[in-house]
Amino acid sequence: MYTASSANNGVYEYLSEAVEDARDRDLWGADGERLEWTFRDYAGCAARSAWVWEHWFRLALAADRDRFTRLADKHGLSLGDEPSPLADLLAGDERYVELRGDLWSVSEDGLHGDDRFVDVTELTDRERKQYATARERCLCGPCTKLRPEPRFRAAMLNMLSGENAPSAAWYLARTAEPSPELLVALVRAGGEMHDLVPEVERCARRVPGAWQTLVSLLPDLRGGALGLALYALAEVARGDDDRRTLLRELDASLGGSDEAAVAAAELAGRIGGGVPGLPGRLAAVLDRDVSDRLRHSAVLGLVNLHLPPRPAPDPEIRVRLEREAERDTEAGKLATWALTMY
Ligand SMILES: [Zn+2]
Repeated sequence: MYTASSANNGVYEYLSEAVEDARDRDLWGADGERLEWTFRDYAGCAARSAWVWEHWFRLALAADRDRFTRLADKHGLSLGDEPSPLADLLAGDERYVELRGDLWSVSEDGLHGDDRFVDVTELTDRERKQYATARERCLCGPCTKLRPEPRFRAAMLNMLSGENAPSAAWYLARTAEPSPELLVALVRAGGEMHDLVPEVERCARRVPGAWQTLVSLLPDLRGGALGLALYALAEVARGDDDRRTLLRELDASLGGSDEAAVAAAELAGRIGGGVPGLPGRLAAVLDRDVSDRLRHSAVLGLVNLHLPPRPAPDPEIRVRLEREAERDTEAGKLATWALTMY
């Protein structure tokens, strides 16, 4: 979770010490069938920091709930205590605010740091306004971005076109109220497509009517934005009609050599099993002078289309893989590995 703000420096310092301490005392980790984390307050000397980390920890569990559920499944475990829904946490009783370059716990009488206290009567007019807002809802960094507060929402949407796009997308895809407009903004960010794929897929899963929103957007999109839309469509495709529609779009993009073609080649391997002629059309990408990224996606797609128990590649596709295997590239390594299976 992205919490970069110099106001958080104090609570970061707490964490680096707390982690070491927890390791020494065996406070974090597995206890039978439970996973435990303890944030010590060191006899009240670090109460604010301990509570903030517990607050952020709960937010992270709620914001990435599907990821933790999948992780637990993978290890044959389940989440015994359902994490609180994100919206409940954002509207919960805990209140923090960034003021005077520090993060404070907000109470009726004022602001509490780990070893400092500011009485409400000592606040300036501007600070008192923020204090009053923070009495109503938490204004810590993660809460303001996950809710999101309107000014952060606008700022994060702007950030989608810059180098901080992945951080902005991380929060936007997890906000308590995802909307079709947000999905469109994430898709249009295009740019460094691969950094944004998991966030666009996550947002698509959470937005009602994502399939229709994305399909109607397709004619306007090119390159990375079109690629992101294809990944999002693959995430929410349901039934044979959706799959046929998506396969037509993938076929159309495979003819190009941009980021949309990179996405289409990978997705063809993921959803195109058993589609007549598709392996040949995918292999034809390797006959063209295209980027290493696209070559890698095409080989990855071909590998997935021919994973056992599916039939091994026919001779024409095998020739392409053998030719690719002679290259000293990621695609070449993958092709070399694939050929050992057939
Ligand atoms: Zn908060």
